[in-house]
Amino acid sequence: GRHPTPQQGGPQPVPGVARILAVGSGKGGVGKSTVSSNLAVALAKQGRRVGLLDADIYGPSQPRMMGVNQRPASPDGKTILPLHAHGVTLMSIGLMLKEGDAVIWRGPMLMGALQQMLGQVAWGELDVLVVDLPPGTGDVQLTLCQRYPVTAAVVVSTPQDVALIDARKALKMFDTLKTPVAGLIENMSMYVCENCGHEAHIFGHGGVRAEAEREGLPFLGEIPISLDVRLAGDAGTPIAAGDGPVSRAYARLAQRLIA
Ligand code: ADP
Repeated sequence: GRHPTPQQGGPQPVPGVARILAVGSGKGGVGKSTVSSNLAVALAKQGRRVGLLDADIYGPSQPRMMGVNQRPASPDGKTILPLHAHGVTLMSIGLMLKEGDAVIWRGPMLMGALQQMLGQVAWGELDVLVVDLPPGTGDVQLTLCQRYPVTAAVVVSTPQDVALIDARKALKMFDTLKTPVAGLIENMSMYVCENCGHEAHIFGHGGVRAEAEREGLPFLGEIPISLDVRLAGDAGTPIAAGDGPVSRAYARLAQRLIA
């Protein structure tokens, strides 16, 4: 296969987890966490056994976005029991902290936290573990892609140039780490006025599709910018849990990712 075995110092599989899907972005704020939670929920609605690991350790958003805030239990003081929401098995460092607490750690502690969340959490049998990465190209990305058999990565970007420049760097990182890239997702593609139906291309439109074509990578789909997406995220009920047009867009994305 592509990877050396763990005995040779290669990636370690996560027991019970069939696929690891990493969701990355160049920049923060482009909607990577929103896409991760909605993709996880959409995959679960299609009958997949789905886990969501919030690896954005400095800025964990998944407890808020998935609507959970319980501290995970650890009956034996070693294994951590993940939480469940919207059909998805969930773990986030944010569940171990109070909302508003800051994580002020150097690289080795980040990597330790990631390894604990992969190795000590009782994920159970999963068809896919979606990993919400931090933005950029740092320690967490390196550790995940070098030490674990990441099946594929997707890169989320908004269509404007400042976001695309950094998305390109994330693609370069996955290429360097030999992590296969399943494709690109355009978030905040366009705004459709709820009153008159007019389409406004606030961050441009089509920039990510063009970038995918330039890179020879699949373009996986586009998600519009909408008040409902933001409200759903803040309320802890991802929009993909409902059945509107954005939810259908996520269903198509999910299908494209795991055929
Ligand atoms: P990132 O993980 O890239 O930092 P987030 O997913 O945290 O970005 O999104 C940043 C903010 O933008 C959140 O408030 C989120 O609800 C909002 N947001 C993300 N995608 C959309 C969208 N398609 N439409 C409206 N708001 C969005």
